[in-house]
Amino acid sequence: MSDSVQNPARVVILGGGFAGVYTAKYLTKLLGRRRDVEVELLSEENYFVFQPLLPEVAAGGIAATHVVNPIRELVPKARFRCCSVASIDFEKKQVMVSQGAGLELVSVPYDQLVFCLGKVTHFANMPGVAEHALAMKDLADAFRLRNHVLRCLELADIEPDPDAKRALLSFVVAGGGFSGVETIGELAELVTRSLCYFPRIDPAEVRFSLVHAQQRILPEMPEALSLAARQILERRGVEMVLGARVRAASPSAVYLHDGRSLATRTFVCTVGTAPNPIVQSALAQGGFTQAELNGRAISAFATEPTLECAGRPGYWAVGDCAGIPSPTGQGLCPPTAQFAIREAKTCAANIVAAIDGQPKSRFAFRALGILASLGQRSAVAEMFGVRMSGFLAWFAWRTVYLAKLPGWVRRLRVALDWTLDLFFPRDITQLQVFQHEHLHVHHYEPGEAIVRQGQVGRELYLILKGEVEVSSSTSGKLVRLGAREVFGERAVLEDTRRNATVCATQAADVLVLSRADFHAMVQNLPVLRDYFADLLRVRHPDAMPAGGAAWDGLPKAPAVAPAELRAS
Ligand SMILES: Cc1cc2nc3c(=O)[nH]c(=O)nc-3n(C[C@H](O)[C@H](O)[C@H](O)COP(=O)(O)OP(=O)(O)OC[C@H]3O[C@@H](n4cnc5c(N)ncnc54)[C@H](O)[C@@H]3O)c2cc1C
Repeated sequence: MSDSVQNPARVVILGGGFAGVYTAKYLTKLLGRRRDVEVELLSEENYFVFQPLLPEVAAGGIAATHVVNPIRELVPKARFRCCSVASIDFEKKQVMVSQGAGLELVSVPYDQLVFCLGKVTHFANMPGVAEHALAMKDLADAFRLRNHVLRCLELADIEPDPDAKRALLSFVVAGGGFSGVETIGELAELVTRSLCYFPRIDPAEVRFSLVHAQQRILPEMPEALSLAARQILERRGVEMVLGARVRAASPSAVYLHDGRSLATRTFVCTVGTAPNPIVQSALAQGGFTQAELNGRAISAFATEPTLECAGRPGYWAVGDCAGIPSPTGQGLCPPTAQFAIREAKTCAANIVAAIDGQPKSRFAFRALGILASLGQRSAVAEMFGVRMSGFLAWFAWRTVYLAKLPGWVRRLRVALDWTLDLFFPRDITQLQVFQHEHLHVHHYEPGEAIVRQGQVGRELYLILKGEVEVSSSTSGKLVRLGAREVFGERAVLEDTRRNATVCATQAADVLVLSRADFHAMVQNLPVLRDYFADLLRVRHPDAMPAGGAAWDGLPKAPAVAPAELRAS
């Protein structure tokens, strides 16, 4: 047996999105039955997501599982490893991954390494956005948004307080690029078509807002089509908040840099991406060149026109994590699926050429067209130089994306979803499949109420950052609390209504603990039990048992077993 068959060249592809899956697909096709090259794809999920259809999943037009394909099914000739890339040892040519139920650290050797890791969602510079905004990047985001919107409609239908109802019926999307515009269009369709089931909601009470930093939405499109998209959305009642940037978010509002705020319980943030940490760390380790766009470093690998990382033979970058010179000679290739698929084809051919010592080819592709769906049977599109808007563009959009979906089974399923959607109302079943998180961080802006006097106490709060003011109309007391202080303990312990209102006086981050978890912790941790007994003695002497003995309101042992804890 020849040495090359015993020790095949190992091509390792990092990432299972458009770039990774299509590189593996083209590579295994080109290699055919060759046994001297081994291809392995590493990704965190075992499925590939067709992201352009996510807004339709969020709007309930397509079933969630119809826009995903198992990676093993798409690239049966490549090895697949479901794992998380932890780091890369460039000296030893090994990728370190954590894998398996125990998340063991394992090394995966490579000869050729392809970076297809995309970008990650990153809201860190906007206080409260990570905690309160919904993203639109993967399947879970779309699924969560659909259920959240239907929940808001259910709550609004029975909400007596007009302000609270207004916030429940206000839907805000940040980002006027493709994903933001498509998301607000689809959201508007979902809500509008569902309203017939909610007789206590007046359609005039519903509000949709699109917040965008520039004056023009869809800046990647020709100006006439951007304008057409804007007019179509405005006709449907979408308010354009242009030239505005999100500064912060809380559970019930979005705050803008210009001082305005929008009361809402549904905030979808499609802006805020960052380089993948693995890409960042590889760039920081040196040896790779960082790509630049308009003179600004963009934390992506600068590549040659062959897709090889500049100055690093054997390393390749494709898709959103790559800065590939545009074949037009101006700037870089755009971070789109359309380009990632074509880049993958060139990259696969050049990897084979590199292994065989053959000359490599340059990436050459001109976008065939540009399309954006706006929901409710309209879209804007430019294809082969022809501009369209409205129904015709929508039909073109659906045809193109149906053709692009990988696999006949998925195509048939999506075609069936779309056909049924033409004749039947949207399904308004609200599924509560996500495990309830008992512990979470909330962000509040100055002046916002965190709890109101009279509400039933279901949560305990620990201030992580900032300051709050506690005021009671019955006792007339006014107290200020800061970092590492708790509030809300009495109502939670006694299962009564709040005896005070708590408002943020500065921007505050607050850790919220559910009543069930708080009780379980106090019962099982004597230190915590003593702490709260002392706190209650100081803060609420009026409620102390006669003689100032131990506080009876505190739950007592026996300790709760972990299984019971989970059930509670
Ligand atoms: C809502 C939405 C709509 C869009 N609409 C369009 C459209 O209409 N047309 C268009 O052309 N483009 C569209 N795009 C853009 C397009 O989807 C992206 O350009 C494309 O997905 C980029 O592919 P990628 O493979 O480079 O990155 P990604 O798709 O982000 O894939 C990255 C992969 O790397 C994996 N990964 C990341 N870190 C690790 C790690 N540490 N360990 C293991 N695996 C890891 C991830 O799990 C993922 O599989 C849209 C995007 C979104 C979000």
